[in-house]
Amino acid sequence: MIRRAALVTGSTSGIGLGIAKALAGAGYDIMLNGFATAPQIQALVSDLSSCGIRAEYNAADMSKPAEIRSLVKATTDTFERIDVLVNNAGIQHVARTDVFPEDKWDSILAINLSAAFHTTKAVLPHMEKEGWGRVINVASVHGRVASEGKCAYVAAKHGLIGLTKVVALENANAGITANAICPGWVETPLVLQQVAARAAAAGISEAEAAERIVGEKQPMKRFTPPSSIGALAVFLCSDAAGTITGSEQLIDGGWLAQ
Ligand code: NAD
Repeated sequence: MIRRAALVTGSTSGIGLGIAKALAGAGYDIMLNGFATAPQIQALVSDLSSCGIRAEYNAADMSKPAEIRSLVKATTDTFERIDVLVNNAGIQHVARTDVFPEDKWDSILAINLSAAFHTTKAVLPHMEKEGWGRVINVASVHGRVASEGKCAYVAAKHGLIGLTKVVALENANAGITANAICPGWVETPLVLQQVAARAAAAGISEAEAAERIVGEKQPMKRFTPPSSIGALAVFLCSDAAGTITGSEQLIDGGWLAQ
């Protein structure tokens, strides 16, 4: 049986790694991407390969369109196919809009939004040829609602949901689905950075800062583990999810129920 292949951007850490592990466990070959040291990359590749699939790594910087195109080419050259695209790489910067650094705005928009356009554009012809494909965009509750201090992030995530819907409509009868996953708080380095900043600013422990940060927005006062996001991604790739397209999959501890 032919093994399907998945490209997961930003998969050396956090949610992307959770998704890569879950897809590897479900039998997909994996192209990893993101920043990490050489020994870390080697450990990740060997960990995923132990699932009996082929795992490879590409260091493309997702803020650079030419590198993104090379990443997609490297994936199709390596696996001779690309069935699943997970646009996950993302960064954050927190500051009020009137003092938000312009370079941070540019890089958040490039990595969290434009990168998904460039990957999708390059990947769609391969999916169209196969008559099957899954595009999964890791958005956020911040693709649906705002929080103070996150102008670039909220703008990018709202944009990513818009892109998801267009890709879903354009490919509705091509065997290709496009969906957004919208997590609330997930315990990853990106969030632990915000927890540390809050702890330092308020002179409290990181555990207390984490409890405050999660509790302010989520009725459910606990983080979602990256493995749960991975399990949701695997479901979206299944045949049972074949008519789920253009959707925003909330996995947010009740955040948007309020
Ligand atoms: P993380 O910091 O743990 O991981 C981010 C990944 O992206 C890493 O692999 C990193 O190397 C990679 N990356 C960053 N810049 C890159 C670049 N220029 N080129 C290539 N790779 C790059 O963060 P995370 O929390 O796992 O976030 C992953 C995604 O999930 C992001 O899109 C984020 O917005 C989204 N998200 C996170 C949460 C949360 O609570 N953690 C909630 C909602 C959405």
